[in-house]
Amino acid sequence: MRIDLHTHSRVSDGTDSPSVLMHNARAAGLDVVALTDHDTFAGLGEAAAAAAEVGIDFVPGIEISCMYEGASVHLLGYGVGPHAGLATELESVRRSRSERLPLILAKLEANGMPLSLAEVLALARDTPAIGRPHVADAMVARGYVASRDEAFADWLAEGRPIYVGRYGMDLFAAIKYVKQAGGAAVVAHPWSRQSRVVLSRSVLEELAVEGLDGVEVDHPDHSPATRAQLRMTAVAAGLLITGASDHHGLGKTRNDLGCDTTDPRTFALLRTRFDAANAVLG
Ligand code: AMP
Ligand code: MN
Ligand code: MN
Ligand code: MN
Repeated sequence: MRIDLHTHSRVSDGTDSPSVLMHNARAAGLDVVALTDHDTFAGLGEAAAAAAEVGIDFVPGIEISCMYEGASVHLLGYGVGPHAGLATELESVRRSRSERLPLILAKLEANGMPLSLAEVLALARDTPAIGRPHVADAMVARGYVASRDEAFADWLAEGRPIYVGRYGMDLFAAIKYVKQAGGAAVVAHPWSRQSRVVLSRSVLEELAVEGLDGVEVDHPDHSPATRAQLRMTAVAAGLLITGASDHHGLGKTRNDLGCDTTDPRTFALLRTRFDAANAVLG
């Protein structure tokens, strides 16, 4: 049984529709797939319907943009039901994503790469959660850079000339809300290029007290050494260990569907921690 618990569609910064994504997942030989778009549940209905068609066991999910001690951390939520507090927070994150666009465009212009808001919005038309990848796509379309990777490496990543920050939910609050909403909470790729916080054993233990269920250890951005260390730390903190591709369609080159997966026994345990039934409407 092959289980991929972290994927993106065009409803955030992936490049395939939720339905195409599920068809591709079946073709890639996956049995269980979670859709975890950034800061929105909007793709889950379409994905669930397509998954049922192709015979995939669908896990409704979300990847929430959080902050921990001033650094960006992503939290995966599975089987998250309706929750007013969480909905309000997600709206704030999405609003902040949109509000930073003019600032990014001003910096692009100052660096000799003018882009109109309309160009970016046209590329981001399927998502309520506009991100830097959509800006990157517009830069590629104009010929300013060759790829999303180049756009991030030279311009958009934290510390690069066109970086603009945005609001992220407090990590502790996000875990609390996901749990209150009947979901399971897993910290995504703690040591990837995006989350440079070192989650020590004591921090993970604090998060576990808040209700954290697991840590995404096997992720394409983690080296073998990172995985080994993270696995040890997570186990010591009593947390489950997951693995996933973080697939973005054509938007990321090293993240093929199923390139990293979750052990079926771990998934069985994780599944007892969330209610998949109430979540698609969330
Ligand atoms: P944002 O959501 O606007 O904060 O942008 C972060 C998103 O950009 C992540 O979810 C990744 O999908 C993507 N990303 C980050 N770094 C890179 C990179 N070097 N190349 C391509 N995509 C990236
Ligand atoms: Mn992304
Ligand atoms: Mn992420
Ligand atoms: Mn992701």
